[in-house]
Amino acid sequence: MGMAIVFLVLFLTQPIFSSGISLYWQDKPLDISLGPRIEKGIIYIPAKALDTFAEVKLSANQVYLNYQEQEYVFSLNSLEVKGTIKKLSKPPKAFDGEFYLPLEALTDILTIAVKWDSKERRLSFNTLQEKPEVLSVDFCEEGNKAILSIDCQGPIKYTLEKTEPGKWKLDLKETSLTKPLPWMLIEHPLLYAVRVEQLSKDTVTFYFQVKEGLELNCTEEENRLKIEFMYAVESFEYHNSGGLPLILPISKTGLPEYKEYINAKSQLIRVFQGVKLMGPKQKKTIDDVAVEYFEFYEKGDSVICLLQLKPALARVLAKKISTNPLAQLVSLKSFANELGTVVELVIEGDALLKISKGEDTLNIDFTEIEANNLIRDIKKTTELKAASLLRVQKDTARLKLALGDYRGYAIIRQDASTYQIQLIKKDLREKLIVIDPGHGGHDPGALGKILKEKDLTLNIAKKLCGLLKDLGYQVLLTRKSDLYVSLADRVSVATSSGADLFISIHLNGSTNLLASGIETFYGPFNHEAYKVAEAVHKKLLETTKAQDRSVKEGNYWVLLNNIKRAILVEAGFITNTLEETKFSSDQYQYLVAVGIADGLTSYWQSLK
Ligand SMILES: [Zn+2]
Repeated sequence: MGMAIVFLVLFLTQPIFSSGISLYWQDKPLDISLGPRIEKGIIYIPAKALDTFAEVKLSANQVYLNYQEQEYVFSLNSLEVKGTIKKLSKPPKAFDGEFYLPLEALTDILTIAVKWDSKERRLSFNTLQEKPEVLSVDFCEEGNKAILSIDCQGPIKYTLEKTEPGKWKLDLKETSLTKPLPWMLIEHPLLYAVRVEQLSKDTVTFYFQVKEGLELNCTEEENRLKIEFMYAVESFEYHNSGGLPLILPISKTGLPEYKEYINAKSQLIRVFQGVKLMGPKQKKTIDDVAVEYFEFYEKGDSVICLLQLKPALARVLAKKISTNPLAQLVSLKSFANELGTVVELVIEGDALLKISKGEDTLNIDFTEIEANNLIRDIKKTTELKAASLLRVQKDTARLKLALGDYRGYAIIRQDASTYQIQLIKKDLREKLIVIDPGHGGHDPGALGKILKEKDLTLNIAKKLCGLLKDLGYQVLLTRKSDLYVSLADRVSVATSSGADLFISIHLNGSTNLLASGIETFYGPFNHEAYKVAEAVHKKLLETTKAQDRSVKEGNYWVLLNNIKRAILVEAGFITNTLEETKFSSDQYQYLVAVGIADGLTSYWQSLK
């Protein structure tokens, strides 16, 4: 289209007055009394001529146009156009008392395609092809990275920029947003929130609120834009601390947990998965008592730190650090509990779990695992018919559970090395409630002067668990210790177990250090969750006497993708010194737990 206009301008540089040019719309001639005018090489189209494909209203010095259900007002001799943020580079003009628009008003403002046929002296206007639409936005986590996938109907043109520390903006060009997408509160350690807007006619803008200093990686594949939010490290420093090597990362984001092992060449290797190296790779000769050289570099989506150890130190460290990068499955047993049957695995080292469900089976795949001296103690129950362990690939082991009668399952990590697969009995009589203590592990959540959100949420959750059990509920906790659990894993505890209710516990943080009080959230348009939130919020205010910040609709990812009755409580502001002091006492944490438990009970009673 650009080419056609350039050609047209060149062709018409000599001042031709009213031109014998005919106008066409979608290959049909426009029946008009006024033709285009040319002045100083600029083509002007009579506004009246547009009424074949747009609604046109003329006044003395303005023309109102409604084209493709959008309204524009052009003013005589003015570059401003109402109804769009774009400006004209040439103003509309009047010739012989008639209102004319420069041709660029059609191509730029109304997005009409123009073709020039010099032989026929014909200007053809056509509607532009439909813009690709943003269809969906998905969030997931993978090896310490947060990933957003944006699906569009057609090819994507984009620009990505950092607008200020902790804020990024993504523009999708020539794209439209057909239906509004909710902004989402993610509560991921790297990605906090996402907002989507269509600010101008042909650009959809995403705003990301993220951890300061992180790195974004954007890839496009078959109409899908994948944005990876990654931890970032500038470099590493080597120090010798009393004869032992110490590696210090220089990083604004901080780094997640790493894997470490010593290989046969006496090299200590530290793997930071899902981390981006911002500076250059380096190799430095050290030659102190412990280390010959030290280097760090990128490999795949990990950053590797390598220490070439002196043999004596390698022997000492090898006893402490695994010499084998493979995780070890050391025990596998099953036992009955009040919920049904538990299959418990103890894994030493770092294994990634993937779960897939067949009709009567549950497959749990572990990457990089060895089963050495495995203690096995599996008992047949109503829920579990058999368990077998197979090697499906060189570095993947599979635990295959043959299931009997059961209601659902939940996979919950008990501590750094123990995983429990809870098979829930079919005839469970009590209500099953999932309690989700927010954050954990390398994700501390909001920070007070002394306290961390992740510790308080766990303390409150444990107290709530005890109370609910006393009240006759069955309870599952998404984490029982200071561990990082992905949002998807938290939600799947509720969705795969057939739970009746999910409650996520959080504490608020704000730059306004005076902000205080309790907010209770439910997912948009979810009336049942609203009723739960209302009941819990009311009782929480009664027990804690905290400030009422009301029950709110919240686009939290864990509420948008969960079972029907899912709520999230922000129990107070850890950034408010007075509230932080209150939360430091067991008694106040207990009051919060009592409020939630009372609220849930009053909710269930209201249904009777
Ligand atoms: Zn939180």
